[in-house]
Amino acid sequence: MIDASEKPAVTYGEPVTRRELVDHLLKVGAAALGTAMGVGASVAFPVASAAAATTRRFRYGMVIDTRRCVGCRACVVACKAENKTPPGVSYTVVVEQAFGDRANDKPLFMTKPCFHCENPPCVNVCPVSATFKRERDGIVVVDYDRCIGCRYCIAACPYGARWFDFGDDYPVTSSGSLLAAAPSPEYGQFRTRGRGASPIGNVRKCTFCLHLQDAEGRYDKAAGRWPACAKTCPGHAIHFGDLNDPDSEVSRLLRERQGVRLKEELGTQPNVYYLL
Ligand code: SF4
Ligand code: SF4
Repeated sequence: MIDASEKPAVTYGEPVTRRELVDHLLKVGAAALGTAMGVGASVAFPVASAAAATTRRFRYGMVIDTRRCVGCRACVVACKAENKTPPGVSYTVVVEQAFGDRANDKPLFMTKPCFHCENPPCVNVCPVSATFKRERDGIVVVDYDRCIGCRYCIAACPYGARWFDFGDDYPVTSSGSLLAAAPSPEYGQFRTRGRGASPIGNVRKCTFCLHLQDAEGRYDKAAGRWPACAKTCPGHAIHFGDLNDPDSEVSRLLRERQGVRLKEELGTQPNVYYLL
């Protein structure tokens, strides 16, 4: 659920003047354009202090074991089933890479959700503060009621983790069936699709299935209230949990094995690690 108290100073519905918008776009345009043109490595983003990350109550993240991933894409299907995303919107994808030094091994598969970066460039470019990082758990969200669909955040994300909802539907969800009427639980808002209403026309992305949290912001793995991809992965390659908790499975894995993060040089500090 999007907690209104966590939103940035601009309130929903507050008009943004053309001047404010132009000033903002001028300020962030260079960074966004640079990233969009694939020169992200040369764009410097501010780096948050370690203290900022540890004062937060939860720091949810993932540790993904590429040795255990067999590329079955069950995580992709599970995510679609959970969040009821339309064609062209997939909150996680599996990329595949064959390596010379692993010629006798399986290819390297990497499931790739939003990394919920500590320094998310997608947030910095949004002209209406529709996308922001939640204070209590670090999850990066999109307020569909505020998003104007400009897609600056898509250009700014160095990881291709954001998607635009063009309003397409699978035949079964536009058929008037019971399935078509099933709302998406995203953000605990239970929106039904139709007639161009949000999130059609908005940017969408992985939320770490935050609608499964309890009121305190906790997940319950034993009860199945766990991100759909991690819950479903048959190879147990996707580990999820609180990186602020030294006793969590994700913290333990990062102590025992070497985790790497993608494009570290950008200073985005992703909260998703890969074990190679
Ligand atoms: Fe934003 Fe992309 Fe980082 Fe997700 S992965 S927080 S969309 S910059
Ligand atoms: Fe913000 Fe929406 Fe534009 Fe993305 S598409 S930058 S969330 S208004």
